[in-house]
Amino acid sequence: LYFNVMENKNTFKFVVVGGGIAGVTCVEQLASQFPSADLALITAGPHIKAVTNFKQVSKTLEEFSVEERPFTLLEEKYSNLTFILSAVKALDAKSHCLETTDGKVYGYEKLCICSGARPKLFTEDNPYVLGIRDTDSAQDFQKRLSQAKRIVLIGNGGIALELVHEVRGCEVIWAIKDKAIGNTFFDAGAAQFLIPSLETPKAQKPFPCKRPRYTVEETAGGTHGSALGPDWHEGIVLQGAEQGHRVVVEYQCEVEKIFTSTDVLVSEIAPNLETVGSWPVYIKLNNDKTYGCDLIVSATGVVPNTDPFLHGNDFVLANDGGLQVDEQMRTSELDIYAAGDVCTACWKHSPLWQQMRLWTQARQMGWHAARCMAAHALSESIELDFCFELFSHITKFFNYKVVLLGKFNAQGLGPNHELLVRCTKGQEYVKVVLSEGRMVGAVLIGETDLEETFENLILNQMDLTPYGEDLLNPNIDIEDYFD
Ligand code: FAD
Repeated sequence: LYFNVMENKNTFKFVVVGGGIAGVTCVEQLASQFPSADLALITAGPHIKAVTNFKQVSKTLEEFSVEERPFTLLEEKYSNLTFILSAVKALDAKSHCLETTDGKVYGYEKLCICSGARPKLFTEDNPYVLGIRDTDSAQDFQKRLSQAKRIVLIGNGGIALELVHEVRGCEVIWAIKDKAIGNTFFDAGAAQFLIPSLETPKAQKPFPCKRPRYTVEETAGGTHGSALGPDWHEGIVLQGAEQGHRVVVEYQCEVEKIFTSTDVLVSEIAPNLETVGSWPVYIKLNNDKTYGCDLIVSATGVVPNTDPFLHGNDFVLANDGGLQVDEQMRTSELDIYAAGDVCTACWKHSPLWQQMRLWTQARQMGWHAARCMAAHALSESIELDFCFELFSHITKFFNYKVVLLGKFNAQGLGPNHELLVRCTKGQEYVKVVLSEGRMVGAVLIGETDLEETFENLILNQMDLTPYGEDLLNPNIDIEDYFD
């Protein structure tokens, strides 16, 4: 094997693959902990994602900005870090070597794979179907949207929610398989609260946003670029070919078939062409509706980027295709760790935490992986970090601040839970999930100012039965109450 003949290969103490949030956090932590060890960051694009303005909002909630930076900044900061601009194409776990697409081979003592994930397209190789993942695909989408009168959006997660709110000047047919919008993040009540925002025209000036915009500039990332993150659309205008904004939601349906304008003449929709209209592409949903459109956006989740690492190795993969990692971020292969979107957390989770492929978790996992690699290199032991105790996420949807805590959607609780809800139309939506009188989750939409108090109540698992519905009584200052 080529790995055996490479006598002059460069060997590093630590190698990290991936210049996204997980990889950069991991390599920075390692570089500062081992200032005289040789480290390498191998990544496919010349830009890396750096976390800046990190702010711990409460015990577990964190806010930070993300900046796309040239890799040279990292090299300048850490003299022991070598940056390798190339994609990994093969790994030989046994001989602790990696090969990159430019034909070079690198050895490692410990490796962390942070290669992220790519959009799960419901159909491959259809030029009318695109996924949005990185700067390049966002630019491609923007260009094609500017000529479009109607797009069909498939999917119901965070990206779909943002798109449906941001796209202007183009009709959006939004096909979701659930009964309510935003199913990944919300229940039907929260969806109902947000629906009016779909109908109101977008404010000329968006609310001030604390996070900086992404600079959308040329990258050489190709198909390996890092994932965009919060506010990815702020730096680009998502304007279609017309004026106005119309969203039609098709609930509880999936894609049955896609036709191009040439197929259509011989297809079952040919007799209905008059009502369907003439479009470059058509999509038939399993609720028997067919829509013609200019473009189909597939926002149906992601697939971990594991391909280059699997051949010839014995990685155990999770059902979602991620590299299984234990609470020390170790994969099933010796000396190989993984963090961020590429991995699946397979340790026994705290009852209040779940993995979601999000920005914050990519940072937390990258950081924890580095600490575990360091501890193991020094033959020390390390415990799971506190941030994995409670799921917490802060974001914005439809210009509302959204805070999600714990089992915010009663995930895995079955019928064994109770919900308390308070809602003021256009202002706030507060939902609390209680299990056996204890708070186990919450959804806070709007400026509720409740996140810290609720986080404490969830973490301390106090019996809240005596307080009943007063918990959400707007006339009671709950912060004082539990002080
Ligand atoms: P990535 O950021 O994808 O980085 C992977 C890195 O690996 C890249 O640098 C890539 O170049 C490199 N790479 C890949 N393959 C190879 C290879 N073979 N060899 C070498 N290098 C390789 N999360 C939120 O929390 N909030 C949001 O609002 C939000 N919005 C999003 C909007 C969009 C459009 C998208 C796509 C994602 C969004 N996310 C959001 C998710 C978030 O961006 C990801 O969870 C996070 O970026 C994952 O970080 P990562 O470091 O694991 O992977």
